[in-house]
Amino acid sequence: MSEPFVALFFVIDDKILLHKCRLENAEHYAEMRNYPRSHMDVWERHYKSEYHVDFDFYPRGRVIYDMRKEEFYIYYDPCCAKQAMKVRMMLGRRTCKLKCDPNYICNQCKDKERSSSY
Ligand SMILES: [Zn+2]
Repeated sequence: MSEPFVALFFVIDDKILLHKCRLENAEHYAEMRNYPRSHMDVWERHYKSEYHVDFDFYPRGRVIYDMRKEEFYIYYDPCCAKQAMKVRMMLGRRTCKLKCDPNYICNQCKDKERSSSY
């Protein structure tokens, strides 16, 4: 079975840009384990110069781990449900819950939201 991990990811043209770390290197917040960097951090460092848009332009998500419940959670933009499922597969048989999260919505979703509120 593959090593458990926490992570964040971006999805660009069907490609998953995954940044992960082992649980022992994760950030601790009570019983939760989180990837220690923010989407903005990772984006500015690795992708901004290539894509010339802000970090919240593309669909993205995060993998966190609840030590107490021994469960993983994947939070993601609804546009990248398929890719979130692929990330989920990397965790093997471990318990993992997938949830859409408005924190991670992309530019397209924001446009939809804006136009629907008129
Ligand atoms: Zn979206």
